[in-house]
Amino acid sequence: MLAVGSPVAAVTPAPTGTPVTATTATTATTAATITVSFRFEAAHHLAWHPGKCRNAHGHSYRLEVSVEGPLDEHGVVADFDAVKAAVDEAVVARWDHRDLNDLFDNPTAELLAHDAWERLTGAGLHLSALRLWETADASVELRRVGPTAGPSGA
Ligand SMILES: [Zn+2]
Repeated sequence: MLAVGSPVAAVTPAPTGTPVTATTATTATTAATITVSFRFEAAHHLAWHPGKCRNAHGHSYRLEVSVEGPLDEHGVVADFDAVKAAVDEAVVARWDHRDLNDLFDNPTAELLAHDAWERLTGAGLHLSALRLWETADASVELRRVGPTAGPSGA
């Protein structure tokens, strides 16, 4: 809710005499974020955990990868298939049906998400966000904090 007297963002009108066409609205002057989702099954245990998470158990993880950028000449940020292939190779194929304690000392959702972020940016994806669901109602999200900086927890 705006406080009385708060400034309201001005809407800049299009310059008069410059028609806005579908072409200009869908070319590289427009940016977007796309998100591709993945599922994988994996086991882990958290040796430090005081409760039941210290026992070996499994999760049906869900990974959501968001990539942002300008639209290319075809009107897309990136080819969904190319993003899927990159994430499958860099993350899903490594973790699916694995005991994550064989790969990580402490496979918390947060540390898995950071590792996935590093692998995917290393694979050339311009990530804007990454969310890893450990259960149907518990997830961790990382977001880009700047044009070249790494992720931040959110
Ligand atoms: Zn767990």
